[in-house]
This record gives sequence, structure tokens and C-alpha cells, in this order.
Amino acid sequence: MTRRRIGLLGGTFDPIHIGHLALARAGRDALSLDEVRLMPTGRSWQKNSSTASAEQRLQMVQLAVRGEDRLLADGRETLRAGSTYTVDTLAELRVEYGDDPALVLLLGSDQLRNLATWHRYRDLLGFAHIACTQRERIGLQDLPIDVEHLVHQHGRDALPDAPAGSIVFFVMPPVPVSATVLRERLAAGDRPTELVPAAVLDYIESHRLYGARALL
Ligand code: ATP
Repeated sequence: MTRRRIGLLGGTFDPIHIGHLALARAGRDALSLDEVRLMPTGRSWQKNSSTASAEQRLQMVQLAVRGEDRLLADGRETLRAGSTYTVDTLAELRVEYGDDPALVLLLGSDQLRNLATWHRYRDLLGFAHIACTQRERIGLQDLPIDVEHLVHQHGRDALPDAPAGSIVFFVMPPVPVSATVLRERLAAGDRPTELVPAAVLDYIESHRLYGARALL
């Protein structure tokens, strides 16, 4: 029997957009993941300009994955009091799923470049693999030295048959969108239907998030 592979995509998802969904689908397909769990952060420790509550961000993720194949919303970080650290979430998942399944943390290249600033970043690979893809023009070359070392030590061409410990790369077509730009467009009264699933845009408008106008 082959080892189960569980993909994990953390983010503020403020709001979730088609770039996040494309990343989750690309990781799922390229790495033969059995499922990808999209996990909105609770009170984010690296961003402080979040304008939707953790509960609202989770609800938008739930709406976005509806009807998607093997993409799931996972609200565990939104329920945790205080700061949420990925390493704690991975430890919790390990207890829940046991030692056998592979956990695969999906990251865009902006997050990989940032990795050495994460709490106990070296311990992440004790719990999970890391799978990274290029996000638009944010390259995978000239990484910060600590990240470079980690990739040098743990980089593999493909996911090995192991529950954790490797860094791999996969390809996805560029999807030029960020939540920051999306919030700016919504605040300007725009309806960016091409960048967010329709159910999420309806939610944003009916809750008047990000300064979006409510449709009459
Ligand atoms: P913000 O603009 O507020 O920084 P964001 O759009 O970058 O938000 P996050 O919630 O910070 O969204 O991202 C979660 C994960 O999704 C990260 O790993 C990030 O690299 C990845 N990601 C976000 N947007 C894209 C995109 N357009 N293409 C590929 N990956 C993306």
C-alpha cells in the first residue's frame, strides 16, 4: 500500500483568491497528494493588516473549496488562542495522523525566501516535507543563505517514500494576483470577478469586507 500524502497550504487568505487555488491544485496534481488542506492562520504573526476576521477568512476558504476535488478547508489555526506557528500545527497534525502519512507543506517562492524568519524553521522538516513553486516573478535563485543551506541539505528531485524531511520543487503556471492587490481593487469599488470565486466575491460584498460595495 502506498503511503498517504497530505498537502497543507497555510496562508492568511485575506481573502482567498485564484492564485491560492491554483497553487493547491498544482501541488495536488504534481505530487500525487491525496488531499490538500487549506489552513487560514489565526491571528497572523507576520502580518498585521488583516481586515477580515479569522472566522470570515475561514468561511471564505470553505466557500472557495466547495466542489473542488480533494481540496479541504481546515480551521484549526483559527481556533487556537494566541500566535499560530506552523511548526506547532505540524506537530498537532502528526499526533492526529500518526507517523505514517507524508505531510507536505506547500509554499510559494515568496514564503520559501522568508522561511528562515519562521519560528523553529529547521524543525519543520522533522514533521513534513516542503514543496515549493515559483510565484510569478519571485525567483527561486539567490535564496537567503540559511534557506540555501536547508535546500542544499534536504533538496530532492522528487518526493521520497518517507513521511517528512525533503524539499522538492514543482511547477505551476503563473497566476498574477495577490490578496493585497485584490483588497485595493475591492476598496476602489472594483468587482474582480476573474480573481476570486463567485461565492467568495458574494460573501465579500454581502459582508462589506475590504471596503467593497454591497450589491443592491
Ligand atoms: P498578501 O498579498 O496579503 O501578502 P497573498 O496573496 O500573498 O497575500 P497569502 O495568504 O500570504 O496570500 O499566501 C498563502 C500562500 O499562497 C503562500 O505560500 C503564497 O506564496 C501563496 N500564493 C499566494 N498568491 C499566490 C499566487 N498568485 N501564485 C502562487 N502562489 C501564491
